[in-house]
Amino acid sequence: MQHYRIDLVSDTTTRPTAAMRRAMAEAIVGDEQKHEDPTTNRLAAMVAELTGKEAAVFLPSGAMCNQIAIRVHCRPGDEIMVHRTAHIFNYEGAGHAALSGATAMPLEGPRGMFTADAVQAAVRPQSNHHSRSRLLCVEQTTNMGGGAVWPLDQVREVCAAARAHGMATHLDGARLLNAVVATGIPAHTWCEPFDSVWIDFSKGLGAPVGAVLAGDRAFIREAWRAKHQFGGAMRQSGIIAAAAIHALEHHIERLAEDHDNARRLGGLLEAIPGVRVESPIETNMVFFDVAEAGLTGAELIRRIAADGVRVSPGGRPTRLRAVTHLDVTGTMIDDAAAAIAKAVGAGKGSDL
Ligand SMILES: *Cc1c(COP(=O)(O)O)cnc(C)c1O
Repeated sequence: MQHYRIDLVSDTTTRPTAAMRRAMAEAIVGDEQKHEDPTTNRLAAMVAELTGKEAAVFLPSGAMCNQIAIRVHCRPGDEIMVHRTAHIFNYEGAGHAALSGATAMPLEGPRGMFTADAVQAAVRPQSNHHSRSRLLCVEQTTNMGGGAVWPLDQVREVCAAARAHGMATHLDGARLLNAVVATGIPAHTWCEPFDSVWIDFSKGLGAPVGAVLAGDRAFIREAWRAKHQFGGAMRQSGIIAAAAIHALEHHIERLAEDHDNARRLGGLLEAIPGVRVESPIETNMVFFDVAEAGLTGAELIRRIAADGVRVSPGGRPTRLRAVTHLDVTGTMIDDAAAAIAKAVGAGKGSDL
């Protein structure tokens, strides 16, 4: 496997710090699925408080948080509403259909966001002919939408539109804390319009594994049942919960550095002829397009890989994504931009 000296492929590439590993080594543990793991119980309580919800449950992944929430909210034949670029719609193997028998209604809109009018227009008429519009899903920050932050008013409006039609609301908050740091608006305020919410620890927060799903007590009771059905009930999970607690205590404010680094990278890339950077850069993601340089994204990825730099495909042939995180320094940002400038400067058809 190739080693990348600068890995901007995702904020999932972060490795646990020495201090995080110490916290993991010293964690007090028990049997999680008997609710006897004190460290996991503490983590769940911390996230319930952070998000302003009654209860929470620790799960192995963010995708499992989404899928368990869908399972609890929906019956077979129900429909979820979700942005066309969302993780739930594109990157979870159609789990909503496979695991819960739900269909999906994709909504359009710039930067991974849609309006209350779009929700309103997509609601199915109530009749035996139609699937039942049941669950609205919002992704904050939007991933393939550019790391954008939904405005709070828009979040409230789309949730109100869903509720007016008897739908439940779910927040995919894989990077919610990036939105919190970018705006100064606390997590519980962002979470208030939602029945279920979750945050990921294996993204920018820098833990090796885990996510926590929160909601009211009745929701979390049912989520626990689905957790057993889906095989997500664990044993001495305090080892990994300790990493998540460490992240909550030490890695939230520092997300601002990732945002600064992303803006800095965006500025450097913008100055390269043939590279178009999507703006504004609000959090830790930089999307850019190399069509005008006469390159495909795949070709750029190949060229910079030779230089030990990695970015990811951006959902279209000439669009790319670079993500900043805990293991990326300001110097690396300069070096990555230089590698991209060199690759683009080499032009099409050169044998670099
Ligand atoms: C990464 C991600 C997920 C899935 O989280 P995992 O912990 O990787 O399972 C879900 N939604 C969004 C927006 C993500 O970026």
